[in-house]
Amino acid sequence: MPWSTGTVGTSAGLPGGIEAQVDPAWQPWLDLLDVALEESSSRAWDSVVTVRAERPDDAPMLHGAVLRIDGQRAKRLVRRLSDVAGVRGGNDVDPSAAIRAAISRDDRALAEMAERCDASIDAFAIVAQVAAMPLLMAAALTLEPSAASAWQRGYCPVCGAWPSLAEVRGIERERRLRCGCCSTDWPLPLLHCAFCDELDHGKLGSLQPEGDEQLRRVETCETCHGYLKAMTTYTALSIRTLVLLDLTTIPLDLVAQDRRYARPARPGWAPAIEVAS
Ligand SMILES: [Zn+2]
Ligand SMILES: [Zn+2]
Repeated sequence: MPWSTGTVGTSAGLPGGIEAQVDPAWQPWLDLLDVALEESSSRAWDSVVTVRAERPDDAPMLHGAVLRIDGQRAKRLVRRLSDVAGVRGGNDVDPSAAIRAAISRDDRALAEMAERCDASIDAFAIVAQVAAMPLLMAAALTLEPSAASAWQRGYCPVCGAWPSLAEVRGIERERRLRCGCCSTDWPLPLLHCAFCDELDHGKLGSLQPEGDEQLRRVETCETCHGYLKAMTTYTALSIRTLVLLDLTTIPLDLVAQDRRYARPARPGWAPAIEVAS
């Protein structure tokens, strides 16, 4: 198919007909998310967060933090998520260790825990990642997201994750990056690659579905070959809508990947944290 990458304002077209349905293969992921969101509606996760006063300028707020959790509640959550995900041995997992490893993106620790409960690393990592969400969302609220407004980096100012989407929000069409782990949103100018900080507009482009140009597109960078999906929104998306939108626009990921753009394999900024119960 004759594709060409446009620069901002002269975007190449994508074929129309982007599907707006969640592939049934992703339903288990939504089921896990719903368990986490139900859990996060409880105030039990309004944990005591002790942040480190001194940290590097480029470190997210949670770097060096100590987060306190209700150990019994966390254990029940990990067990329930393991059941939904079909991960055996969820009973034997130390919830504090699993949540810490997920937030610190400690792949080695996650792999060791997965092996101990005879689960695949991917399945276990998803359980740990979703189990960390109620704590991360509570911590993000505690840490005053308004402090994120001065943040000019591509990864989340609270937890260091890469954005799952960019929102082009409101009549001002402000670009707000959204974290799919803790729900934080923060601004980054349109002509600023979230992954490598490229600012040269000649290197930054976009791919847009025909007929849908105003609503969604893929932002691309020729310097790092990264891509980020961008959606037009009126107000900030809830985390569930954010995840749903991410899943229903997988055809955009496929087009970007077909063009050899990729999401970075390395984490944005992996914060060292302590989880205590
Ligand atoms: Zn985050
Ligand atoms: Zn880049």
